Amino acid sequence: MSLINTEIVDAAYIHIPFCKKICHYCAFNKYFYDGQPVDKYLVGLDTEMSLYQLNKQEKMDTIYVGGGTPSCLNMQELEQLMESINRQFKFDATTEFTFEINPGELSKEKCQLLYDYGVNRISMGVQTFNDQLLRRIGRNHRVRHVYQSIDWLRATGFEALSIDLIFRLPGQTLEDFDDSLTKALELELPHYSLYSLIIEQQTLFQQLMREGKLPLPNEDVDADMFELAINRLSEHQINQYEISNFAMAGYESRHNLKYWQYLPYYGFGAGAHGFINGERYYNHGPVHHYLKQTTANAKPIINQLPLDKADQMEEYIFLALRTNRGFSLQAFETKFNESALALFGTFFESQRKKELLLIEDDTVRLTNRGLFLADTVFRELIGWLKAY
Ligand code: SF4
Repeated sequence: MSLINTEIVDAAYIHIPFCKKICHYCAFNKYFYDGQPVDKYLVGLDTEMSLYQLNKQEKMDTIYVGGGTPSCLNMQELEQLMESINRQFKFDATTEFTFEINPGELSKEKCQLLYDYGVNRISMGVQTFNDQLLRRIGRNHRVRHVYQSIDWLRATGFEALSIDLIFRLPGQTLEDFDDSLTKALELELPHYSLYSLIIEQQTLFQQLMREGKLPLPNEDVDADMFELAINRLSEHQINQYEISNFAMAGYESRHNLKYWQYLPYYGFGAGAHGFINGERYYNHGPVHHYLKQTTANAKPIINQLPLDKADQMEEYIFLALRTNRGFSLQAFETKFNESALALFGTFFESQRKKELLLIEDDTVRLTNRGLFLADTVFRELIGWLKAY
């Protein structure tokens, strides 16, 4: 299978599927680091990227290395990965180059190496500032590692720092989450991501829930936590620019905005997916399947999903409404040669009456209340599409 690019693709996601410890709630494509062929995997990644001839195209606007846990690589492996990225991509200081880290796995040396190879944005999986809860959800780090990592990163020169927090953790109270928010805000970071815990299939938490051993806060507390977060962040001029993402002006994740703006991107690595020419493609998930392909100099794609126009228009609306920018009616018409109002007008009107959605001149977007209740809006959109 080969994907021939006929459009400019200036965003790339690179997946490192290894973790030193598996968290109890995690359903990502990840494998226990020890015993994995990490070296070979990095060679495979290099081969995969080379097959797309990225050097022949314009410079990348965004590069995002995620996982798994990219920071679990040792210095030598990290250098191998960074050499590979620097060799395969054209990019410069204006490129947003994000690297995900786990607090317990950083060192001054790793910070310096990432910085020297052009990384300029760090996303850190903090989850909570409560050591007891960190232990309970199976995280590898403790709160002291967060502070140490932030100190090292800042001393190295990183400024665009983001942390993830999860709420509705087992046994978590509103007061506890408020305390985590206070500590998160005290760090004065320009970007925060906040997620309500989701119980995924085939995780330890799913099993515990089935056995009645997972005391999750109820839906009301969950909603209170989310509302508290939105209010506390906005008091600090950190605005909700997407349902789960909050930033000071100018610090929004350009890479993630591309997903929501329905722009194309490459996905490299085991289990990664990309979106090129209106087609989603999916790589093999298991590392040995992935390596079998790359060793044979073949793209490790297991599935390609061409989307018809109706699918694309629906995805476009779903993704765009996640952000506070929404979308432009004119841009929709230019892209699809269809009027969004003619197609989705009755749905928009139903949400507008509930004050969940706004149509202002050329822009359609969710209100603040709509972003808060986005799950409800999207459930109703699915129902409306089925009946349409
Ligand atoms: S570190 Fe991240 S990817 Fe790894 S198990 Fe935990 S949540 Fe999953």
